[in-house]
Amino acid sequence: MKPGVKICALLGDPVEQSFSPAMHNAAFSDKGLNYIYVASRVDDTSLKAAIEGARALGIAGLNITIPHKVSVIPMLDEIDDVSQRIGAVNTVVNNGGVLKGYNTDAAGFTKALAGKNVNPEGKRAVVLGAGGASMAVSYALVEAGASVVIMNRLARLDEASRLAHKLSDFSRVPVEAIALNPQNLERSLAKTDILVNATSVGMHPGKNHSLVPESLLRPEMLVFDLVYNPLQTKLLSDADQAGAQTINGLEMLVWQGALAFELWTGLAPPVGIMRTQALKELENNSLNITRRRKPAGQKVKSSIALIGFMGSGKTTVGRILAGKTGKRLVELDRLIEINAGSTIPEIFSARGETAFREAEIDAVKEIAEVPNQVISCGGGVVLNKINMDRLKENAVVVYLEVNTDEIMQRMQSQSIEKPVLNDPCDPDEVRQLVNFREPFYRSYADISINSTGLTAEDTAQEIILRLKNHALHNQG
Ligand code: NAP
Repeated sequence: MKPGVKICALLGDPVEQSFSPAMHNAAFSDKGLNYIYVASRVDDTSLKAAIEGARALGIAGLNITIPHKVSVIPMLDEIDDVSQRIGAVNTVVNNGGVLKGYNTDAAGFTKALAGKNVNPEGKRAVVLGAGGASMAVSYALVEAGASVVIMNRLARLDEASRLAHKLSDFSRVPVEAIALNPQNLERSLAKTDILVNATSVGMHPGKNHSLVPESLLRPEMLVFDLVYNPLQTKLLSDADQAGAQTINGLEMLVWQGALAFELWTGLAPPVGIMRTQALKELENNSLNITRRRKPAGQKVKSSIALIGFMGSGKTTVGRILAGKTGKRLVELDRLIEINAGSTIPEIFSARGETAFREAEIDAVKEIAEVPNQVISCGGGVVLNKINMDRLKENAVVVYLEVNTDEIMQRMQSQSIEKPVLNDPCDPDEVRQLVNFREPFYRSYADISINSTGLTAEDTAQEIILRLKNHALHNQG
């Protein structure tokens, strides 16, 4: 590192898969700037300290990503009008110790549209999803004069309504929130000019999925998928087939980065260099996935499957474990929801447990062969031998054992729906289910960890130690 180097950093959790360090370092180098960009994994509890640290160390600029784009706002000295309206910040400039927040996601989206000569003014747009990306995109569309319909799953329609309400405050065009279901999709898309997928559906590893039936895509439409891995999602392939104009998520990614670069350095960003670098990262990413596939006959298990009863901490421990090992976290239940386009309670109530278990088998099949993952499994995954046989091909199976009293406590403190239980507060019912499943967990586990009374961090640490012993034992 040269003396006087200026540092920019990405703060988020996780950040390991981010393309931003490669994009920005290539841009700094192209412009001959003595800058360096690093990614730092910062969890919720450390965000405030990280922001103060950035101020104290004179960090020149920050990118803020999931899950901190909203929570960072009160920690900053000021934010610009756009981030104020969107309610999220993704870029921070440190001006002599004064931290000012900006949002370049919205402008990044607009730039990507402009790159394809699309002017949203007077157009009708449908935005799928009501998360952070949808907020930025919907804002950009409304600002440009497009009317917007935001569609989100029924269970979380309130998110979409809140968003629409907020945008309506300053919009001169109608903004509406409706449930994402086949009837509404058909009705809305019949008169839509611009369709934006701002959900994670279509993203690796669920890349063969799209929320929109091919039959609803028309040649007059512009279809913009914010997902950039893979570059050509199923939605974009279907849109191409239908003769529609398409834009992939990489364009927005590159432009939001380019605009951040401009804010930090005051210079015109080398957009072409940043795009080439992002494409290289994407290529490396796909090559790594292909290369990491297990060579025939070689028994190397690079994934970890966490099993255990609901409330045993599989997702929290899995997230920490993924961070510490550099593996990718896959939440099996989340993947099932993405594939089904509905929440697990919705699947249970509409089609029953059998349909859910079938969807679980499909999801396990989809991910079992992909190496280097931490797979947080649903509590009942062990009930189907086929699931466990598939998982055990590539993953060391770790059982997170927790005593029933602690499970009860954890379940009561988390307000997550437990569709397999009639009454999640009934200790007898919980005990009965634990006793029934316990022998399955034990019989499939390569490693059992009793995490009763342990923090998630300690549990993850213990798993790493035990995995090392397990590997040594199996080599010997
Ligand atoms: P987020 O805040 O977690 O929101 C995700 C949204 O997707 C929510 O509205 C969620 O609905 C919806 N969703 C997830 N699974 C679904 C399913 N199976 N069916 C229907 N809706 C589903 O995430 P985000 O930050 O907005 O990001 C969304 C996507 O945009 C991600 O793929 C991300 O990588 C991409 N993105 C791209 C860029 C770029 O520069 N290209 C920038 C930002 C984000 P619920 O509310 O019902 O859960």
